[in-house]
Amino acid sequence: MGSQFNTYEPGEDTDIEQIKIEFAAHQEDCCYEGGRDAYAGHLGIKNGLRVRKDKIFEDLDAAVDWIDLHNCKWDAADCVPYKSKVTGYDAASRKIVNQIARLKKELDEFDATIVKELKKAKSKTIGCKRCGSSINRKYLDALHCPICNKMDAFCTSTNKKRFERLKAKIQTLKDKPLVEKKVNGVRYVIGGNCSC
Ligand SMILES: [Zn+2]
Repeated sequence: MGSQFNTYEPGEDTDIEQIKIEFAAHQEDCCYEGGRDAYAGHLGIKNGLRVRKDKIFEDLDAAVDWIDLHNCKWDAADCVPYKSKVTGYDAASRKIVNQIARLKKELDEFDATIVKELKKAKSKTIGCKRCGSSINRKYLDALHCPICNKMDAFCTSTNKKRFERLKAKIQTLKDKPLVEKKVNGVRYVIGGNCSC
């Protein structure tokens, strides 16, 4: 009984959870095509995935060689990182992508930011124009009125404009064309010796 060395190259996504999902799907494909018995000789029969993160190999060959040398046939499959060209953006596009991310965060935190500002105001209470309730600013934790539930009861028209401007800014940036470019990065390769 021998072993067969196999590798699998997941996509460029370096999120380990994503790689695990992708590999599990690959294992299913292997089993579908090659059977599930313990000597099927493919990666589908490997039990689990060991991810190595402490060393980034110089290239794909070096990563694959290391796996071949260290992976025993009863081990889980090994997943190791190596230096590679990956899809990225040119400098101008990268700036746009970063700007969008920053503005989106601002948008996500918009309500919380306004609530924080409202809490800082000098007067102790704030009134709801719809139901007339007076709310202690200390207990304010959202922009809707806790008494009548009116949405954005404490959001001024200036704030609403601020919100719309933020959304428009993001849209303008999203409409700009992005230029992809190969950049230095890291990819993962999975491999293992599989009993056959
Ligand atoms: Zn109200």
